[in-house]
Amino acid sequence: MTRAVIVGAGIVGAACAEALTRHGVDVVVVDRNPVGSGTTSRGEGNILVSDKGPGAELALAQLSRRAWLEVGDLLGRERIELEEKGGVVVARTGAGLDSLHAFAEGQRAAGVTALDVADPLALEPHLAPDIPGAVHYPEDMQVQPVLAAAELLAAAVDRGATFRGGLDAHAAVTDSDGSVSGIRAASGEVLEADVVINAAGTWGGEVSERLGAPVPVLPRRGFILVTEPLPPLVRHKVYSADYVDNVGSSDAGLETSCVVEGTRRGTILIGASRERVGFDTSLSVTVVETLARQAVTIFPFLARVNLLRVYRGFRPYCPDHLPVIGPDPRAPGVIHACGHEGAGIGLAAGTARLVSDYVTGGLTATTAGEWAALLPDRFAGLNKEARQQA
Ligand SMILES: Cc1cc2nc3c(=O)[nH]c(=O)nc-3n(C[C@H](O)[C@H](O)[C@H](O)COP(=O)(O)OP(=O)(O)OC[C@H]3O[C@@H](n4cnc5c(N)ncnc54)[C@H](O)[C@@H]3O)c2cc1C
Repeated sequence: MTRAVIVGAGIVGAACAEALTRHGVDVVVVDRNPVGSGTTSRGEGNILVSDKGPGAELALAQLSRRAWLEVGDLLGRERIELEEKGGVVVARTGAGLDSLHAFAEGQRAAGVTALDVADPLALEPHLAPDIPGAVHYPEDMQVQPVLAAAELLAAAVDRGATFRGGLDAHAAVTDSDGSVSGIRAASGEVLEADVVINAAGTWGGEVSERLGAPVPVLPRRGFILVTEPLPPLVRHKVYSADYVDNVGSSDAGLETSCVVEGTRRGTILIGASRERVGFDTSLSVTVVETLARQAVTIFPFLARVNLLRVYRGFRPYCPDHLPVIGPDPRAPGVIHACGHEGAGIGLAAGTARLVSDYVTGGLTATTAGEWAALLPDRFAGLNKEARQQA
């Protein structure tokens, strides 16, 4: 029986554990912290196709959407708060609407359902009345990330997987031919494995160095504002069209574009900022003010609503904005599943399908096809200094 050690019990590691145990793989998940306590607990729960243009990431988002629906049926949609609520992307200007329509046209050609909306108020009655137009993406969904990670891991454990919390993956154990045959914990304990999966999210860069197969994953900080609980006033995930530009930008400076969504408990989540400031956890009042102001321009009623709290997290950022998924030829036995930046919740279920295929032989680096763009060999030429600056 194949034995896989998964480093990281965030949404990606948990989804990989669930998918691998379906195929009879003997799985051990290790994390130095509790389940879902990394970036998985620090974001929203958007499962989006709407913010991705044609290419490997959109294809993964489409695969992932289907996989999330299956996972929802398996675990119970209510238990993980999986909702097919749809997304509404609003333009703020006529020019913005033209580019939004052009972007949607490209997505439609790639199979995305994107519906032009002449009267956004019909979909979202509390929107600002001067919004010139929008695109409705009925395929966008939402999930509660920590619940989903915990339930995915529990499903894997039910099938025989083991979870080892409080275990820091410190180094790879390598054979004489250079292939990786396990990990050594910081405590010195050795866990043997046929395959080691790097699902360490924002720390995937550090773990990859430890495994001898370095990939550049860096933190990109983001804040979320949480309002007091309200009756349902925001029906979809609603965001401004410039969000797509910010997601795709590599600028290290502060970028903000408004994403607003309601939750089951009545709170409204307002995101999302992006900035590369390392692991700086300090509160930025500028970011909070900017996000709040932008949210009010989309939903004016928010001006009268109290904020309960603000939290922040560190997205696992890769310089080309694509996750790293697949076997690493520099360290045979290592498979990366990290670097999903601001889309790791949405992409987790699809990532788990790919990882499972790589482990069970359904997919190889040679037969990766449309997933080849995600393989780690795209970073093989980067030295350590370049990886840290990327
Ligand atoms: C503000 C914000 C909003 C976001 N909104 C969304 C959204 O709406 N939709 C979406 O799809 N994504 C969103 N994201 C991104 C998403 O949260 C991440 O992409 C996702 O959580 C990454 O999951 P992961 O499992 O790869 O990483 P993590 O959840 O960080 O899990 C990695 C785990 O690895 C463990 N680990 C690290 N190093 C070691 C080691 N050496 N040994 C043992 N364990 C180790 C950590 O303790 C951690 O638990 C958002 C992020 C932020 C910050």
